[in-house]
Parts: sequence; structure tokens; C-alpha cells
Amino acid sequence: MILYGLLTSPIVLGAKQDLCATCNVAGPHLIVRRVRWVEIFFIPVLPIWISHRLVCTNCSAETKLGFGARLRAGPPGHELGQAAVAAPGEVR
Ligand SMILES: [Zn+2]
Repeated sequence: MILYGLLTSPIVLGAKQDLCATCNVAGPHLIVRRVRWVEIFFIPVLPIWISHRLVCTNCSAETKLGFGARLRAGPPGHELGQAAVAAPGEVR
């Protein structure tokens, strides 16, 4: 018997200041990547669906980000502290 299923894991890539179209408040928005995995015996083995969303921290409204919008939103870890750690030899 093989145990299998689907798992959706959200990952916060970063944050940015933006104007929310739902609540009309300019504030921080989270850039969230959701990946749906096929899992076998509770181990994720194959990503089958990837989606990027911009989530308002004020009203939790979600806006879908296309690939180009995701690139324009900034690098992963932007404004969350991960990008604050410079790689060796990197000039900031
Ligand atoms: Zn909002």
C-alpha cells in the first residue's frame, strides 16, 4: 500500500510597501509563494503547481502576481532581513 496525497506549503518571500486595492490603505504587503506538492508517505516529492500572491497585512486580501510582477516586486527576502545579510564580497 502506498500512501500519497497533496500538500500546499506557503512560503513568505518578502515584503513591500504597496497600496491595497481592497482596503485602500498603503502599507506592508507580503509576497507569498504557494507550492502544491505531490507527497508519498508524507514526503513531498514533486511540485505540481506554483503561485505567487501579494497579501495585504491590513485586510488579508490577496492579489495574484504574475511572473513579471513577481520579478518587479523584488528579490526573495527583500525587506525581511534575509537580504540584509550580504554575501561574501557583495557590496551594499
Ligand atoms: Zn488591504
